[in-house]
Amino acid sequence: MQRLGVIGWPVAHSRSPAMFRAAFRECALDDWSYQRLPLPAELFAETVRALGASGFVGANVTIPHKQAALALADSASEAARAIGAANTLTFTDSGIAAENTDAPGLIAALGRSPAGMTALVLGAGGSARAVVWGLLNAGATRVSVWNRTPERASALARELGASAVSRPASADLLVNCTSVGLQRSASDEVALNQLDLTADLVGRYAYVIDLVYRDGLTPLLAAARSHEVAIVGGLEVLVAQGALSFEHWTGRPAPLAAMRRGAGLQTHSG
Ligand code: NAP
Repeated sequence: MQRLGVIGWPVAHSRSPAMFRAAFRECALDDWSYQRLPLPAELFAETVRALGASGFVGANVTIPHKQAALALADSASEAARAIGAANTLTFTDSGIAAENTDAPGLIAALGRSPAGMTALVLGAGGSARAVVWGLLNAGATRVSVWNRTPERASALARELGASAVSRPASADLLVNCTSVGLQRSASDEVALNQLDLTADLVGRYAYVIDLVYRDGLTPLLAAARSHEVAIVGGLEVLVAQGALSFEHWTGRPAPLAAMRRGAGLQTHSG
């Protein structure tokens, strides 16, 4: 059995197991499996070091372990090192190898090159690091970073070559890398206010990407759609980064349509 999994805390709501199992079925990879691996921070290092000997080929890593995953790895790709975080670990005879598919996944989900575009990234956590690096690396001309805690935006911007802003600035592309929108308890207006935005301000961007996914549109995507702004949802990004991890581990082209269905995406968005 070739075992894979997703390590996180919490990880109960991850759609990665359903997405990968759909991919294995489609490719007749009957001896591959993918499971949730709920792991609190204090158990992360010792458990991950033991996974290779337990038959695991690799693992995806999500909140809050992406930086710890890079730190634990014996080798890392240039992208993972530059981003400072890893979401894809591979267990080999020579140790743990770290990769980051979040950055290329974001670009793939966008469906066009960001070269020559300006972007505003909301957030300064692990996913914001990958998105800022990915956009700059793919030729975005200017990337601004806004965050609730401004010091974190300044530190990230300094490290990765972006600029921190104290209010959401105008740009071609808006990417939400905060967890705002995940909770259904807040109204859409309250959620937008938490990002220092209004629906009208959202309408000024040409593209809006929300890494957060849930059933139905997030407040940010609802505002964007009401202003006829092009949108990309978090499930599109999940499928794109998952497809790259699938190819990395299996050496086969990812069955995108099956993975989209497995993740709960019903239609092609083009
Ligand atoms: P993280 O490292 O924990 O960062 C969380 C970010 O959200 C921080 O910038 C934080 O600001 C901000 N934030 C949290 N609550 C907020 C609030 N009430 N108001 C304003 N800002 C708030 O998390 P992450 O790994 O970057 O992930 C962020 C989100 O993206 C998560 O919801 C995750 O599920 C999603 N994600 C999706 C994909 C995908 O494939 N679709 C991939 C990666 C991540 P402070 O610095 O001020 O605390």
